[in-house]
Amino acid sequence: MSAPDPPSRSKVIAIDGPAAAGKGTLARRLANHFGLAVLDTGALYRAVALRLLRAGAHNDDVSDASAAARAIQVSDLVDPELRSEASANLASRISALPEVRAVLLDFQRDFARNPPAGAKGAVLDGRDVGTRVCPDADVKFFVTASVEVRARRRVKELRETGHAAIHSRVLKDMKERDARDRGRELGPLVPADDAIVIDTGALSADQVFATALDVITSRDYTRRG
Ligand code: C5P
Repeated sequence: MSAPDPPSRSKVIAIDGPAAAGKGTLARRLANHFGLAVLDTGALYRAVALRLLRAGAHNDDVSDASAAARAIQVSDLVDPELRSEASANLASRISALPEVRAVLLDFQRDFARNPPAGAKGAVLDGRDVGTRVCPDADVKFFVTASVEVRARRRVKELRETGHAAIHSRVLKDMKERDARDRGRELGPLVPADDAIVIDTGALSADQVFATALDVITSRDYTRRG
């Protein structure tokens, strides 16, 4: 089956949700299908955290975080160490800092407005894409699943990428991270009013993709100018 024509002007698909809910997989598949650029906004926060970790920062020493955020480049977003739990946990802490969020907000909006490589639009996945980064996104999804399901997925993903992972530890970290992401004042994890919620707990990646595609197709997303 051939992919439909790409959108005629820059389009944005926003995908938000907690860790390991399936946002990234859905974002990549939609981006491939529609020929859009994709930005994993969590990788931006992880990249800031990784810079700090490599500079010897401890969890509560984040004074250099906004300088690290200003130094972030697209090339930082492919480092395999971004996937480590140390990067994830520090990312969740520094993401509560207003200066860090302000710097990364500009980066994300710029990406959405001017997607690289001549793409006609972008898919951004994260926590506050639909509510704050791109409130005018053409389509918004909120992808979620129970914390137990997400922790199991994260353990599998970590082991497959060569990282050590203990289930009870990952589950505990994920609960703490959820609480921080939901409870923070700036850009908290919450579905946008106009987001379509997809619970991925009992769905395969194919089923999640098919559900999202149905929503987009029913809105005639690819033809609106
Ligand atoms: O999605 P991922 O688990 O890679 O995100 C790492 C952390 O970055 C999250 O726990 C969250 O605190 C932060 N983040 C954020 N806003 C986003 C994306 C991620 O605060 N849009």
